[in-house]
Amino acid sequence: MLINWEHELDRVGHRVTLSGLPIAMHCHHYNINLQKMLEDTMGETGVRLLFGAAEEVSFHGFTSFLQHYSRIKTVKSKLELASTVYQNCGLGVMHFQKISHRGGIIVSPSSHHVTGWLAKHGKRETPGCHFSRGWIAGVLEAIYGRPLRHFAVEEVTCKMMRHEECRFLVEEG
Ligand SMILES: [Zn+2]
Repeated sequence: MLINWEHELDRVGHRVTLSGLPIAMHCHHYNINLQKMLEDTMGETGVRLLFGAAEEVSFHGFTSFLQHYSRIKTVKSKLELASTVYQNCGLGVMHFQKISHRGGIIVSPSSHHVTGWLAKHGKRETPGCHFSRGWIAGVLEAIYGRPLRHFAVEEVTCKMMRHEECRFLVEEG
């Protein structure tokens, strides 16, 4: 099935929309400064805030997208669509091959947040892709018909720590 990206990723006046929902577009300066400020000032609470915001937005956005494209029925197609949306939004590359409704492993060899963090702050000592973890949780909850907060996503290796790739372990919460 062909998706009309020119239509889906649209501009209405000053607003940019994805499948009818307004989205915010930020460069890495904004996104990484936001993350650093949340981590530096709020610690784990800031990390959870970032995770939860990304989870809610991706859950609602992807649920809307799937309702709009109701002919996309198989889980495999929905996962492929999630990967395409992630890439088309400039967030990076994400592989969903080793995942099921019970969880699994997701690999990201390239991402906006990794590139931005390394450019601004260099190597981290802890995994830092909190936005991506939340985004993963939200889309999987939308795809598998689970409620928000169903999936826990832990990052086990991270390119911000100079690991070869970001690997996310997904488990039912
Ligand atoms: Zn990472």
